Amino acid sequence: MTFQELGLIEPLTRALAAEGYTHPTPIQAQAIPLALKGHDILGTAQTGTGKTAAFTLPILQLMVAEKPAAGKRVVKTLILTPTRELAIQIGESISTYAANTSLRHAVIFGGVSQKAQTDALARGVDILVATPGRLLDLINQGFIHLKSVSFLVLDEADRMLDMGFIHDVKRIIQLVPKKRQTLFFSATMPPAIQTLADVMLQAPKSVEV
Ligand code: AMP
Repeated sequence: MTFQELGLIEPLTRALAAEGYTHPTPIQAQAIPLALKGHDILGTAQTGTGKTAAFTLPILQLMVAEKPAAGKRVVKTLILTPTRELAIQIGESISTYAANTSLRHAVIFGGVSQKAQTDALARGVDILVATPGRLLDLINQGFIHLKSVSFLVLDEADRMLDMGFIHDVKRIIQLVPKKRQTLFFSATMPPAIQTLADVMLQAPKSVEV
């Protein structure tokens, strides 16, 4: 199985080849074709399985296929993740995979000055990677709105719960349009996470490794 056989376009497969990725991991092989078809995804996968590429690649492709709106860039993809380290890693992955596209992203997380983050937002981004607390702060200050989001990723949902972010996540989801594609990933599926998935996802396809 190759990335091309999963349906990925050349700008993405070329970026993967440059990184030395020749074959999709099992979670990528399962999730990418389903996400490209527009399905919501409920993924049970740990870190280290290649889940970041599993959710990033199909979204990049679907965004490339869309006609860019005239005027300033607006956030079309929101990726929520629990920690600063994960947010930075996801941002680095996007830089790699989106190298041959014109899509732009920003990474926002708490514990550091807002300035560099709000400057990046002011330049316009298509994809926002964020931890929940800082995202709500910046929304409340008027730096971000989520009205144009059509792709939503929840990464490491069980850690969001463990770290006490579920309330923030629920508030953020209220601000994202209902008409969207949602990719939901968690290492484990305890009842509280299953309940959150039931609320967030529409007719999801389950993928598991
Ligand atoms: P993740 O589970 O998303 O944190 O990814 C785990 C690691 O695997 C990261 O360092 C990725 O860069 C790497 N990786 C992801 N997909 C592939 C692939 N298809 N082939 C080789 N390495 C990969």
